[in-house]
Amino acid sequence: CGIVGYTGERSTVDVLLEGLSRLEYRGYDSAGVSVIDGDRVALRKKGGKLKVLRDSLSDAPLPESSTGIGHTRWATHGGPTDENAHPHLGDEGRLSLIHNGIIENFAELRAELEAAGEVFASETDTEAAAKLLGRAYRETGDLTLAMRKVVHRLEGQFTLLAMHAEQPGVVVGASHNSPLLVGYGKGEHFLGSDVSAFVKFTPDAAALDNDQIVTITADSASVTDFDGAPSEPKRFEVNWDA
Ligand code: GLU
Repeated sequence: CGIVGYTGERSTVDVLLEGLSRLEYRGYDSAGVSVIDGDRVALRKKGGKLKVLRDSLSDAPLPESSTGIGHTRWATHGGPTDENAHPHLGDEGRLSLIHNGIIENFAELRAELEAAGEVFASETDTEAAAKLLGRAYRETGDLTLAMRKVVHRLEGQFTLLAMHAEQPGVVVGASHNSPLLVGYGKGEHFLGSDVSAFVKFTPDAAALDNDQIVTITADSASVTDFDGAPSEPKRFEVNWDA
């Protein structure tokens, strides 16, 4: 339902929680965040309101990190439990992924992935994309290339954001019939399902076209189509008071 991603020098969990609170108006039933922590991704996710997640994070904070993703979920496949909340993990806990929308062919994908030895922790359609992306990462060694492979296998509508512990400082997003925006800062970049995810931090934004992939680092944001052809998104200034 609500999506935010960040790379930069700020306190990443604070940026993600701020973005998620500004996306609350869209409605949701669960929330979660993850950050890259050494050779794994650290993650916290909870059914219920953002306050449940916030309280859990103030009791036991996640580590400082330059890279993170956050999600508020409106359940379509699987009830609003902690396990079904996003992010979902792939590549044996080294990759995390969040998703807005519906993956229509998830049952086939899940059967194929389970036959290949993947073990699922949730009932969501989303987790099939996380496991598929994890396997594509092992083949390609690059999250952007992995995303390019995976988007061709997904049917339905989706905004996806993912990060991998072997590529700290990188968040990759993809969108198909579902919005995704980039926020441009100085030495930092943001991704969001709408500009409210990052408008507190920067007014400089661009919306992806349908069927595009974006890779952000602290210093760059590059956009291509699903086959890798580069594209220059049209930037605009958000003129509301943050
Ligand atoms: N279909 C996904 C799920 O049920 C994503 C729902 C959403 O857009 O929040 O987990």
